[in-house]
Amino acid sequence: MQPFVYDGLPSRVVFGQGTLSRLAEEIERLGSRRALVLATPQQQEQARAVLEQLGERGAGLFTEAAMHTPVEVTERAMRVVEELGVDCTVAIGGGSTIGLGKAIALRTGLPQVAIPTTYAGSEMTPILGETRDGLKTTQRTLEVLPETVIYDVDLTLSLPVGMSGTSGINAIAHAVEALYARDRNPVISLMAEEGIAALARSLPVIAADPGNAEARADALYGAWLCGTCLGSVGMSLHHKLCHTLGGSFDLPHAETHTIVLPHAVAYNAPAAPEAMSRIARALGCEDPAAGLFDLARAVGAPTALEDIGLKPGDVDRATEIATRNPYWNPREVEAEGIHRLLSHALVGRRPVSEEGAQS
Ligand code: NAD
Repeated sequence: MQPFVYDGLPSRVVFGQGTLSRLAEEIERLGSRRALVLATPQQQEQARAVLEQLGERGAGLFTEAAMHTPVEVTERAMRVVEELGVDCTVAIGGGSTIGLGKAIALRTGLPQVAIPTTYAGSEMTPILGETRDGLKTTQRTLEVLPETVIYDVDLTLSLPVGMSGTSGINAIAHAVEALYARDRNPVISLMAEEGIAALARSLPVIAADPGNAEARADALYGAWLCGTCLGSVGMSLHHKLCHTLGGSFDLPHAETHTIVLPHAVAYNAPAAPEAMSRIARALGCEDPAAGLFDLARAVGAPTALEDIGLKPGDVDRATEIATRNPYWNPREVEAEGIHRLLSHALVGRRPVSEEGAQS
């Protein structure tokens, strides 16, 4: 057994079907009385229903949350926070809405209830990425970790099939990288393996039968575990590549994760054999890189970066940016290998785990 350090994150999780009905008591538990409900414009109706449900504990709505937490949106929300005198936020939505709740918490210390409706996992992390003038900066501080997370399986039934698959594989990516993280530990590795397995068995069922509540519960459970992995240990090459492709080429978040993951795993395979056998076991396959690619295909997700907006001419610049300040990675990050990885991901070639490279 390798020595390790384990930091438990202080958050309360309420999980089940119909758990949204417990929102008012959870707000009371936080000692709050005037909640601001946050959402994207697309989830305005859902947010309005939550506000109505809250009755006198609902202070108002702010439904302008946007991808990558733009600072100008947060500043508009801050004016509403001050005008209404709110004492907590309730974020209902995916990573974009939960990011806004975190940005408000950073500026005010207000407690947060997060109600995730995707599998992205932001609700379980002390990480906030904010965008100012097109530049994204990320920070890690416990001040942004939501105090309470309500996972309600019913709310994920409306997540479109396409988004369910890509968002679920986005979650798997957190667990995959947790298994070979430099600061990995046995507890998080258990969660990672279980999280991958729960999503790998439920996502194909959801693709065929989106209203299957049992599969939806399994997927949300997996997403919780994978989000905990993301919040607890460091991420490596895969997340660096996705941040580069999202930040500099404006590629969509969950789709990018889905396409890149099998290729990042193929690249890292020779340097992380124990992680690879755990990923393979969780997926129920021999080669984890090929298994992740096949899972993406089974849920009808895109498999080629050229299909979501990357141009062949972008590969050189993406390689240069991704290798400039690499995150720690089990295998050395070298330009030729990354160029090959991105070229394969560009056209959607089915990867096979590489062999023989040095860690
Ligand atoms: P998202 O929050 O941007 O949601 C995408 C769209 O789907 C939005 O229009 C949203 O309103 C809609 N939507 C969400 N749930 C729905 C549902 N159940 N039914 C119908 N529509 C629904 O997407 P995301 O992938 O959850 O989050 C991506 C963002 O979160 C990125 O900015 C990413 O950087 C960030 N993120 C941050 C962390 C972190 O730890 N800080 C972790 C993961 C993701």
